[in-house]
Amino acid sequence: MDSILVVNAGSSSVKFEAFAIAGSADLKFQVRGQMDGIGRQPRLRARGPDGSQIVDRRFEAQQIPDVPSALHTAGDWLREQHEIHPVAVGHRVVHGGPNYDRPVLVTAEVLAELEKYVPLAPLHQPNNLAPIRSIAERFPTLPQVACFDTAFHRGHSPVTDHYAIPEPYYAQGVRRYGFHGLSYEYIAQRLPAVAPECAEGRVVVAHLGNGASMCAMLGGRSIDSTMGFTALEGLPMGTRPGQIDPGVILFLIEQRGMSPAAVQDMLYSECGLKGLSGISNDVRELEASSNPRAAFALDYFVHRIALHAGMLAAALGGLDAFVFTAGIGENSVSLRARIAEKLGWLGARLDAAANAAHGPRISAPDSRIGLFVIPTNEELMIAQHTLALLRDASTLPRQQGKSS
Ligand code: ADP
Repeated sequence: MDSILVVNAGSSSVKFEAFAIAGSADLKFQVRGQMDGIGRQPRLRARGPDGSQIVDRRFEAQQIPDVPSALHTAGDWLREQHEIHPVAVGHRVVHGGPNYDRPVLVTAEVLAELEKYVPLAPLHQPNNLAPIRSIAERFPTLPQVACFDTAFHRGHSPVTDHYAIPEPYYAQGVRRYGFHGLSYEYIAQRLPAVAPECAEGRVVVAHLGNGASMCAMLGGRSIDSTMGFTALEGLPMGTRPGQIDPGVILFLIEQRGMSPAAVQDMLYSECGLKGLSGISNDVRELEASSNPRAAFALDYFVHRIALHAGMLAAALGGLDAFVFTAGIGENSVSLRARIAEKLGWLGARLDAAANAAHGPRISAPDSRIGLFVIPTNEELMIAQHTLALLRDASTLPRQQGKSS
């Protein structure tokens, strides 16, 4: 069956998802899986459409030493065990730089352009590009599409995407890019169905997962975001601090003798909920803990979300709806309730029963703003973009029968 393969590659894991091309613009979910522990204890796991586990296989470290070998093994498994034959691959690519405001069909020139953004996202961009390159080598005629986390925010005004630093740095790429754009774009696409009265209005979307950010949307378009030059800015996250005085970084390097690499490691891996609690980055564990530090970390998280919500509401000139999404936003009844309470000054009133049932509408009838829970689906967004781009370019081959 013709399918679109979606690839989301990190440093030690590759997530993949396959969608069958069911009709002119229809995509049918087939398989979701991931290869974890690349180079250490590789493990391939996947689930089918009914949610049941269809594979759980371990490998020797030398069998899967890197991201490309992980993807090739997963691709072989999809083809041989499930007769899934990708006719195109859509990739999540964290950085599209200042120019890409939409997905793009990958060519050698595009790949060279995307390489230039490696310094802007050194931890993520190389891992995103490695599988594109290896698939291009192995299957040179298989179309590949790069979908960017930054693209949805590219319409921001200059006052939004500048830092107040000397102008030449802006030209060098030091800008507030914003991330989680594929998630926000998916939510914007769902809003007319879930919240028709708000879809064209002023909406703040809170993507609260291990990475967390918020987006101000006007008429379904991003006008501001809490994330900036990197995915460190804005809200506190599982292991990242969010907004921090740059003086702290200077202090750590100059006064405490930390190397830039050590500071980077700390900022990406040791801060946020994990750093504050000293227990875990996982909200489930913090909610279950009786340790006061766990409670403090969650208090901090709620406080900062409320502060940034106020900032984005100001950018929008008011608020019509607030949407929760991603792992925490979709699942934590108690954090949603606490955040909604903090939005009381904007007229938010929660329907506790609807919140306990995970919505989608969780605002009470007398609420001045709509409160919603909308599960995100970045992979479907990537698959849709990939299919649309191929159809536009009329490059969709029939029964290529090969994949990664
Ligand atoms: P990522 O940014 O890695 O894609 P997710 O969107 O999958 O993250 O969110 C993962 C986080 O969601 C977990 O670390 C956990 O804190 C939170 N989470 C998942 N399920 C629940 C739950 N039932 N209750 C509270 N938090 C949850």
